[in-house]
Amino acid sequence: MRQGDLDLIIEGGWLIDGLGGPRRRADVGVAGERIAAIGDLSAVPARRRVDTAGRIVAPGFIDVHGHDDLMFVEKPDLAWKTSQGITSVVVGNCGVSGAPAPQAGNTAAALALLGETPLFDSMGDYFDELRVRQPVINVAALVGHANLRLAAMRDPTAQPTAEEQSLMQRMLADALEAGAVGFSTGLAYQPGGMARQAELEGLAHVAAAHGAMHTSHIRNEGDEVEAAVDEVLAIGRSTGCATVLSHHKCMMPRNWGKSRATLANIDRARAEGVDVALDIYPYPGSSTILIPERAETIDDIRITWSTPHPECSGEYLSDIAARWGCDKTTAAERLCPAGAIYFAMDEDEVRRIFQHECCMVGSDGLPNDAHPHPRLWGSFTRVLGRYVREAQLVTLEAAVAKMTSLPARVFGLAGRGQLSVGAWADIVVFDADTVVDRATWEEPTLASIGVEQVLVNGRQVFPAAAGMPRPGKILRRVPDAAQSLP
Ligand SMILES: [Zn+2]
Repeated sequence: MRQGDLDLIIEGGWLIDGLGGPRRRADVGVAGERIAAIGDLSAVPARRRVDTAGRIVAPGFIDVHGHDDLMFVEKPDLAWKTSQGITSVVVGNCGVSGAPAPQAGNTAAALALLGETPLFDSMGDYFDELRVRQPVINVAALVGHANLRLAAMRDPTAQPTAEEQSLMQRMLADALEAGAVGFSTGLAYQPGGMARQAELEGLAHVAAAHGAMHTSHIRNEGDEVEAAVDEVLAIGRSTGCATVLSHHKCMMPRNWGKSRATLANIDRARAEGVDVALDIYPYPGSSTILIPERAETIDDIRITWSTPHPECSGEYLSDIAARWGCDKTTAAERLCPAGAIYFAMDEDEVRRIFQHECCMVGSDGLPNDAHPHPRLWGSFTRVLGRYVREAQLVTLEAAVAKMTSLPARVFGLAGRGQLSVGAWADIVVFDADTVVDRATWEEPTLASIGVEQVLVNGRQVFPAAAGMPRPGKILRRVPDAAQSLP
């Protein structure tokens, strides 16, 4: 390298390269969008130097489970991401994505999770809009299975005709060719829940043929969780389509502990060669749309938003029902369309699932909610502060690998998720002694502490400053090549 080629040297810090090995003392040199040098760079000139003595320098985190599809348009600074060190996000999860838009007359409640912006006709149109808006972080997009049903089927609550099935498959192929990394299912929601095995396998075959993948919000995360996991494993097994089980959990006390069986099934499938991984968010409460049928079965339900009753955001359903003098189911019905947090998971079980060797971290953050689940602002820093520093569930190096190189490999994000010469300069600098989430159930939008600097493609995005460029890229999937450099 010629002297003076480096734009930036991040010097004096402890380097965790994302691949799981122990931290080491090393400076990191950035030239343009890439990492150009690693080692003792004290004698190397650079346009700018940042002193990170005593700090950890790691690859930027990859949030494998986002719902920020429309936020790149509506709130493009995405402060909830950059402030916790996230430099790439996978959007389009749980069967819902920014494209394709439903055909006239079709809709689905889960689409309300995304935001106010009208959906785009095609993933190609969505990506064109992202390029115009310039994403602040990198984005890999899945196309939602619910979108495909709503766009391709005249009656999306029915079974697809042969013609509709082939139209869905053609729409999926178009989305993949436009740059989507795969498709997602939301089998616990409608209309995705209407899908039978043959429909899902037809789509998974198309994805596999394109080197793409599929993620699944499985059909049931409670009493039927084991069968629901098996259903998704069977799709991966029969089609060869790489598969991710989203936000894996077992809800309701009577189902706590079932992850021992589901994880064993996942291990068996992996031993057979099924390409499957999973993710969690590090909290014992879940969040999605308000489902009135759950009102009597889960004791603690907190409202995150309500179209007819926005004043109820942040309140417990039981308090609302008491004030209205009705039962909780009736209150829930009156609040819909609405969103909710459900407290029905076991923290010990979440932590056990997290420790599985192919478990990643996905925030599942819902940035459109008035009173969101705190996972939106705190998932990654909560792992670092509470799961690593306080509980010592895994080493810091192992946790970083779960949030960087592992998702890069699973999603095929070439040159991401590691600090090595030639890799993209997605970098987070944090203080391992103080880093932690601050977002709580009561105050869910408090930013984390301990994250000091975040770079995306060599450009600073955090701390944010007025007029900063938005340097994110749209990421395509490069199967089997994620650990190699582009
Ligand atoms: Zn989901």
